[in-house]
Amino acid sequence: MSSLLLFLFLFLTPSSPLEFRYHNNREIQQYLVEINASNPDISHLYSIGPSVRGQELWVLALGLSPHRHTVGIPEFKYVANMHGNEVLGRVLLLQLIDDFVRGYRNNEDWSVKLLNSTRIHILPTMNPDGFDESDTNCLFSQGRANYNGVDLNRNFPDAFAGLRKQPQLEESRREAEVRAVIGWLRMESFVLSANLHGGALVASYPYDNSNGGSELVGGASVSPDDDVFNHLAKVYSHNHASMHHGEQCRDSGPFPEGVTNGYLWYAISGGMQDYNYVWAQCLELTLEVSCCKFPPENQLPALWTENRKSLLAFIMQIHLGVKGRVFDGSGVPVQNAVVEVKGRSNMCPFRTDKHGEYYRLLLPGEYVFTVTHPGHKVLTETLNVPHGPDQYSAMKHDFMLRQIPATTVSPQANLTKANSTEANLTPSCNYTLNLDAGASRSSWTGLCVSLGLVVLLSLVS
Ligand SMILES: [Zn+2]
Repeated sequence: MSSLLLFLFLFLTPSSPLEFRYHNNREIQQYLVEINASNPDISHLYSIGPSVRGQELWVLALGLSPHRHTVGIPEFKYVANMHGNEVLGRVLLLQLIDDFVRGYRNNEDWSVKLLNSTRIHILPTMNPDGFDESDTNCLFSQGRANYNGVDLNRNFPDAFAGLRKQPQLEESRREAEVRAVIGWLRMESFVLSANLHGGALVASYPYDNSNGGSELVGGASVSPDDDVFNHLAKVYSHNHASMHHGEQCRDSGPFPEGVTNGYLWYAISGGMQDYNYVWAQCLELTLEVSCCKFPPENQLPALWTENRKSLLAFIMQIHLGVKGRVFDGSGVPVQNAVVEVKGRSNMCPFRTDKHGEYYRLLLPGEYVFTVTHPGHKVLTETLNVPHGPDQYSAMKHDFMLRQIPATTVSPQANLTKANSTEANLTPSCNYTLNLDAGASRSSWTGLCVSLGLVVLLSLVS
């Protein structure tokens, strides 16, 4: 019965291009359900949890294996509308979905190659409650916060605040939308991400905060991956019609080449991009994509054209650097092995995921890698890294660890090694949120809701 309804629904669904207008939250949900139903082979719709007012935060994943991670295929995400009144991102991400699906169905090279090589997660609105409250003003901030009046881009755990020994918020005091994103970051090992804002025209990159330590250089808060971040930001700004000119908006800038270090622009504590980078080893940018926070609808087609190439070029950058797996002496993938690059002392060292995988975005060049895991010899290898985006793949390299024979391991040696690894961890790295298993549960909830909607929509169409 339900498969018949699904067939009728697919048959009756028109495939006309998506309208250029502001879709409300219900329309966005309906659109995502329709796209998912008519493209089940390359899309997966799930919710990362509800907003304060109970609106689901829907994510559409696109890729050849949309339901689950594939070893070797990096996970990318775009998030829009974190500030409810900054709305162009919602439109851009829906158009991007439409473009990807249409391109794939028409066998267009760019779409097929990107979806073959990348799993792309799209969250069109992180703050649907704020959107409901927002007015259409270009400058003001009605609707910026969530339903509780909290700015979501100040509500994440903050590494630098932790270093200043400021008490971190308890998990239960964080906003529902922030908890949903934190759970999402634990569910998937994201490699590259951007969150879309409005009110300026600039690509901003970590850090957004500082505690006045060695990261503070010339007014910027410089991360160990500053060269990569600067490159990523320039990819967006130079592929954009005008962002790279750097002074397009009356109320902000100038920004040389349309990019800025977040802290250099203005410091924020509890921002999402620093959280992604420090805790989830996901390199995230904050993209300010329009001078006006709520542009008139008749400008939307032009604004999409200005941003389309940048949005695609940015996704391609997920194929920078090196990727691979870490195996132990018996060929078993090793989880939690620390994979470090000389000269890049990350606040929380990058670690392999449950598949033993690591992804390391790097510009072309020669790098010394060190891989450590308790009970194994420290492995050091020098790698020559080419430019991966041209090939739609980072360079592949697996690391083979060698176990330290039990007879030669003195308890002292093990202790020293464990301690030296721990010494790299700042106190902020030990801070963990006690999330329950909500992430996977909400995914199931989302699936059930979306299936229900498919049936419902097929009944009314
Ligand atoms: Zn914003």
